[in-house]
Order: sequence, then C-alpha cells, then structure tokens
Amino acid sequence: MPEARALPEGGLTPEDQLLHDDVQRRLEQRPRLTLRLRITLVFAVCTLFIGGITVGSVLMLSHVRTRTQFLEAMDECAYEIQEARRYEKNFFLYGTSPYDALDHIRRADRLLAANARAVGRVIGDEEARRWRASLEHYERLLQDLAGEVAAGRPHFNAEVRREAEAELRRFGTEILANASDLLDKERRSMDEMLRTASLGGIGLLVMMVLFMVFLADQLARQVIRPIGRFIRYVGRIADGDFSPISPARRYRDEFSTLAVAINRMLDELTIRQQQLLQSRKMAAVGTLTSGVAHELNNPLNNISLTVETLLDDFEEMEEKQQKKLLEDIFTQVQRTSATVRNLLDFTRKDHPVFTPVSVSDLLEASLKLVGNELALARVEAHLDVAPDLPRVTGNPRNLEQVFLNLFLNAMEAMPDGGTLKITATRADGFVRVAVQDTGSGIAPEHLDKIFEPFFTTKEAGEGTGLGLSVSYSIVEKHGGRLEVESQLGRGTTFTVALPAG
Ligand code: ADP
Repeated sequence: MPEARALPEGGLTPEDQLLHDDVQRRLEQRPRLTLRLRITLVFAVCTLFIGGITVGSVLMLSHVRTRTQFLEAMDECAYEIQEARRYEKNFFLYGTSPYDALDHIRRADRLLAANARAVGRVIGDEEARRWRASLEHYERLLQDLAGEVAAGRPHFNAEVRREAEAELRRFGTEILANASDLLDKERRSMDEMLRTASLGGIGLLVMMVLFMVFLADQLARQVIRPIGRFIRYVGRIADGDFSPISPARRYRDEFSTLAVAINRMLDELTIRQQQLLQSRKMAAVGTLTSGVAHELNNPLNNISLTVETLLDDFEEMEEKQQKKLLEDIFTQVQRTSATVRNLLDFTRKDHPVFTPVSVSDLLEASLKLVGNELALARVEAHLDVAPDLPRVTGNPRNLEQVFLNLFLNAMEAMPDGGTLKITATRADGFVRVAVQDTGSGIAPEHLDKIFEPFFTTKEAGEGTGLGLSVSYSIVEKHGGRLEVESQLGRGTTFTVALPAG
C-alpha cells in the first residue's frame, strides 16, 4: 500500500507530478501477463492433459487388441499342434496316414503367418521367426516320414523308426510345451496390463480433479486478490487520499490497465478539485471584501458625519452633547474593530489568554456597543441575568465579540423592530446565555449551514458570512457550545453555553 498522502492544496506540485509520472511508468513497464493469457494457458494445459490421457487410452486399446489377436492366434495354433501330435501318435501306434498330422501342422504354420504382425509385436520378430522355424522343422520331420510311406517303404527298419519317432516326439513335446507356456505368460501379462490400466485410470482421474481444483483456486486468487486491493484503493480515494496506485506485482495485466486509468482519473480529479477550490476562493474573497467594505463603511460614515457635526457646531454645543457625540464615535470605532477582529480571528491560529470573566459585565458591555443601533432599529432589548451567576474562564474580548455578532445578527433579522431578550442562567455546570429575537427566523434548509464560513443570506456586500463561524470556533475554544433554535417568521434563539468557573 502506498503511503497515505493528502490532496495538496495548490494542485499537482512538481514533486507530485514526478511521483505520478514515475508510478505510471512503473505500472506500464512491467512484463505483460494478462488474465486472458493466464486463462488460455490454464485451458491449454488442461486440454494437453486430457489429450495425453486420450492418446494413452487409444494406444493402450490398440495394444490390447493386438494382444487379444495374438492370444487367439496362439490358442488356435496350440490346438493345431496338439491335433498334429495326436495323428503323429496314431501313425506310430496304428500306422494311420501321417498326412493328417502334416495338415494340422501346416494349418498351425499358416495361422502364425497370417497373424505375423500381431505375433511379432507381442513376442518380437526374432522370437516369431524362431517359432515358425520350429514348426517348419516339425513339418519337415513329418514330411520325411510321409515321403517314406509314399515311396512304399512304410516299415522302416527298427533302428530308423525309433530314431524318427524319438525326434518327432521330443520336438512335438517341446513346441507344444513352449506354446502353452507362451499362452500362460501372455494371459498373465494381459491381466496385469488391464489391472494396471484400470488403477492408472482411477489415479489419473484423481490427479486430474486435484489439478483442476488447484488451477481453479489459483485463478480465483488471481482475480479476487486484485479486486480486494482495488476495493481498498477506492475506499482510501473516497476518504480523500488521492495518492496514485503503485504497482503491487511483477507483471502487468488487465488490473494494471485499470490502475493506470484510475491514476489518470486521480490526476484529473486533483486538477479539477484545485480549479474548483480556486474559484470558490475567488468567490469567498469577493463575498469577504464586499461584506467587509460594507461593515466598515457604515461605521466610518457615521464617524465622518459625527466628526463633521462636531467640527461645525463644537462651540455652540453644550458639553453634554459634545460628550454624547464623542461616545458615538467611540462606539462606531468599537464596531469597526469588532469587524476587523472577526476577520483576524478567522485566520488566527494562536491561543488567546484566558482570565475569569463576569458574564453579566460582558453582556452589558456588548449591548452598549450596539445601543444606538438598537434604538434606531426600534429594537427593545431586555437583559435578564440570574443573581448568583458564576464567572466563566475565557478571553473577554473574544467573548464580547461572540455576543456582539449575535446581537447584530438579531438586530438585522428584525428590520421593522422587535424584541431582543438576553437571558443568562446557570445549568449543569454551565453558564447559558440565550439570545432570543422576534425576527425573520432561519429557513430549515439553512440551519445546518449557518456556522460554515462565508455562508450568508444577506445581500451582496451586506454580510461576510464570518460572524457565526468565528463565534462558533471561539465558543468551542472555551470548551462550550453554540446552539440554535429557530422558527421561520417567529424568531431565533442562539444559546451560548460556557463551562462555569
Ligand atoms: P452574516 O451575518 O455576515 O451573513 P453570519 O455568519 O453572522 O454572517 O450569519 C450567517 C447567516 O445566518 C446570516 O446570513 C443569516 O441568514 C443567518 N442568521 C444568523 N443569525 C440570525 C438571526 N438571528 N435571525 C435570522 N437569521 C440569522
């Protein structure tokens, strides 16, 4: 996971641009091993495996067919040799024709010749040749005997007959024994082969299933893991961490293409966000400057008019009247400095000095600052402070500013006059000051926005949208709460709760 980085305020810095370019390059430069290729490879391996098994089975079947053909041929061949031997015995015992034996031995030879390929493949060409040579030798011995009979000399002398008989018997016994040995051996080997084939088939099936399970698991991992990673990326992007997605693996696939696209989108988002921020800043600066100009202009005009009156009529005025005008100037200056302080406090990061403060004194001083304007706006102010109200710990100037902002807002909400009721009570370890007016009230859809900086419903140039936001953060720094209740058309109550003591 890349390190979490917050969105830079001034757009993509050169370092960020370098980082983004580097990540994109690393993403794109890895060797390519796509999911499509991996899936194709898996299917190719499976196909090869199944193909191998099929070819193996076909080969084995052909082998079985050859052996069966061999066994059938050898079986018949052994029968013919047995028959030949029977007639051979009859010839020696009863003097029957030796041609019957000859017929059978020739049939045996023809059988071997007709199945020469199968025989050769099972016992080898050399062995097959030896077999045929043996049969031919036996045939020759019989032939010689038959020749003697045909030449009219059926009765050999005893010596020759014994020898011929012994030779034929010995040879006949030998080839018959060889044939039945061979048949037994090949039958056993065929049984063995069939057993091995069926066990092998089951073994291959088990292997195939295990292999398939392994491949399916691997493939699922290749897809599920990156999806999990991308869900985490999207989560952190939603949380505002716009740092690019770095390569997580050694090769490149479809997920890399997605990462590259998301990184491009992040770049775009960053740039768009900066543009938006910039235009919002411009709008805020516009609101701020026109609002500040208006809020400073009013008291400055009043000061200018009062000073002009003093300059023109100073000598004719009574001392009391002069003092009253100077007090007016002082009040206007206080208002001006409150507006300036709002501005300064909005940008200030330091911590103000806290001292014990009397809330009653604070409220009276703040009311005095707007006394003239209240009278002019025909707003009747009532201050009701509980007698045993404890002090609060705070910065008097900051707290005065909070109340001044609340009073001015209340007054501006009652352009046709009304009542401003200020009540200070003690409750649950807090001093609660409720500032209640009978003004226009706040629309429900605005209620959760009024504490945001630069939110104002006032005409351009008449409000900065800073009063409540600055007041909120001052009260918060004092460990208190600033709450609002309002009914459209009936009035609003702001409550400042500050920890007592
Ligand atoms: P500003 O007074 O410069 O607009 P504030 O932050 O002091 O900025 O107030 C924000 C908005 O809250 C005001 O524009 C107004 O719509 C609303 N508001 C604040 N106090 C009151 C009130 N007592 N009665 C009605 N609306 C109020």
